[in-house]
Amino acid sequence: MVEPLRTATDISPATLERSIAAVRPEALYAERIDLLQVNLGRRCNSSCTHCHQSCSPSCTEAMDEPTLDAVSRIAREVRPALVDITGGSPELHPGLPALVSRLRSADLRTQVRTNLTALLEPEAEGVIDHLAGAGVQLLASLPALTAEGYACQRGDRLQTALSVLERLNDAGWARSDNLRLDLSVDSSGYGADCSECELTARYRAALTDDLGIHFNDLVLITTMPIGRFRAALERRGEYEAYLSGLAERFNPATVAGLSCRTAIEIAWDGTLSDCDFNLAAGLRTAEGEPAHISEFDTERLARRRIRFAPHCWACTAGAGSG
Ligand code: SF4
Ligand code: SF4
Repeated sequence: MVEPLRTATDISPATLERSIAAVRPEALYAERIDLLQVNLGRRCNSSCTHCHQSCSPSCTEAMDEPTLDAVSRIAREVRPALVDITGGSPELHPGLPALVSRLRSADLRTQVRTNLTALLEPEAEGVIDHLAGAGVQLLASLPALTAEGYACQRGDRLQTALSVLERLNDAGWARSDNLRLDLSVDSSGYGADCSECELTARYRAALTDDLGIHFNDLVLITTMPIGRFRAALERRGEYEAYLSGLAERFNPATVAGLSCRTAIEIAWDGTLSDCDFNLAAGLRTAEGEPAHISEFDTERLARRRIRFAPHCWACTAGAGSG
């Protein structure tokens, strides 16, 4: 096995790059674009404690019409395996229905991320029916199964979120082949040692066996030390120790599968980043690479150098993330 080149306290991006290069030098670069992730903006009906984008109801960033048009055009050119639409709450963006219609009419597999409760907001009226009719898959976040666990991250709305899941099942999600419904769970509520398998079994028992709520798969997302979570760590004076802990758990097996190697992120203002986490950290693509949708160059972006940052230690720790 190749030994990573690092020390317990050296958490610099340069050290991370050397650790990655020692395992697989080509992992410093993208290898293709399978996933086109589109962030419609930071407005959200929640303001979760772990939110890496620091989204809230008062955020005003939102993708404008010319950028939405450019996203549709680029998605048709790139033809990724998946167009993944996120936010904030993408359900609250008035351009979402038209965007998914254009993507689906080009036969592009499309996923919308939802926190579930946003689908009940007045601005999202008709969105459930539209997404079902268009055959859009959903990645729904459900951070906890208990009222207390849910409330400490997202407020007192667990029953509302569960009622939306029931409504999605009734509309066909997780019941018909073209309407996948996957759940995402943030690791902050369960600890770094909880495995995706174990959590899937827990969610299957609590939701499907006890309540009759169906879903396809569960995705465990590692909490990233950026945004509100980073601010909380810094307030407690724990940020450096947290990153050192991640660096200690560097796992060479994660390097080949870093999600940024097969993805690109388009932000609400058209800027390009390697992933949603880099976008949240205010990092565009690496210097010298196309940095805005107006410069989109599929060939170059599919081979671009990745811009690594301290939070990337979370993607190379343990079972990996991102
Ligand atoms: S984590 Fe998701 S639901 Fe919570 S504030 Fe951020 S975007 Fe909204
Ligand atoms: S945070 Fe983003 S850029 Fe960094 S390793 Fe993870 S996916 Fe790649």
